[in-house]
Amino acid sequence: MAGVSDALRDAGFAVFGPSAAAAQLEGSKGFTKDLCRENGIPTAGYIRVERMDDGLAALEGFGLPVVVKADGLAAGKGVTVAMTREEAEDAIRAADDGPLVIEEFLDGEEASLFALVDGETAVPLASAQDHKRVGEGDTGPNTGGMGAYAPAPVLTAALQTRAMDEIVRPTAQALAMAGTPFSGVLYAGLMLTSEGPKLIEYNVRFGDPECEAIMPLIEGDFAELLKAVATGKLSEIDCPTLSPKHSMTVIVAARGYPGTPASGGAIRAIEAAEQVEGVTVFHAGTAIGDDGLVAKGGRVLAVTAVADSFANARARAYRAVDQIDFSDGFYRRDIGWRELERAS
Ligand code: ATP
Repeated sequence: MAGVSDALRDAGFAVFGPSAAAAQLEGSKGFTKDLCRENGIPTAGYIRVERMDDGLAALEGFGLPVVVKADGLAAGKGVTVAMTREEAEDAIRAADDGPLVIEEFLDGEEASLFALVDGETAVPLASAQDHKRVGEGDTGPNTGGMGAYAPAPVLTAALQTRAMDEIVRPTAQALAMAGTPFSGVLYAGLMLTSEGPKLIEYNVRFGDPECEAIMPLIEGDFAELLKAVATGKLSEIDCPTLSPKHSMTVIVAARGYPGTPASGGAIRAIEAAEQVEGVTVFHAGTAIGDDGLVAKGGRVLAVTAVADSFANARARAYRAVDQIDFSDGFYRRDIGWRELERAS
């Protein structure tokens, strides 16, 4: 959004990542909603307003629940799914008279689709499902993400094809037509409704923790893949291949997160966790203290396990997490619960 990739491109670098203009797909919800409307891309019905009073008046046109979103980057904190009119009005007032998107509530299960896009060429890379809420059973406040698994079987091959054809490719084409082609990874947050996949939001980067779950499944030379996108040659290379395996990432966070996290707690026995087969421990919020590794941040570790099945990846991830000695930390024990429920 700040135009870093534009500056780099101007200086002659090949860049994997969107221009400031194309990054509006993530940076402005209103921009994306208008693009969907103009191009017949399935998404929740909505209205954009600039001011609080217009927002309050617009509520008349919506049923309940209704979704109120601040229009701009809000680190996941600008969205209210209001169950009552009062809650919706409070959310509109809390936006300090700033621009808003008010939209209809979509019912279904969420899944994320990651596509590589270079101008008009868009190829699917992977799917995943994350867990936004801090508490088990998807309770408590939203976080940056407490765990993820990939692939997300709920996004079947048929649904993925529909999402590529009805959502991702028309988006890439619309941006290319507007003279602001997209380059990089387009992460579509989808609601799988009874009418088919609908777009909830775009991110223009690999999400975290989805990234940690997806990367270990990518086969072949990842740097070459990024370079092909950055140099506009995606259509000339073999499509990325994904291992048929499954992966799961469990986030270990510091006590207090997503509020103020406890800082400085000692972390030991990461080596023991990494001895579990198929496991990698990614550091997110750690630092080296006087006596070794300590926590420094909200989400501290991303423990990822790969295995031949979802159940085995899950078992390995939790076996690894259980090895880690971090008394100031916590994690959700139910990552992947939807998939477990489906399997049973
Ligand atoms: P993040 O990037 O952290 O996911 P965000 O601030 O960009 O959040 P959205 O992704 O648009 O916001 O919405 C956050 C969450 O709110 C979604 O993941 C979804 O669970 C819920 N949500 C958003 N829009 C709708 C909708 N129209 N119907 C039902 N639920 C919705």
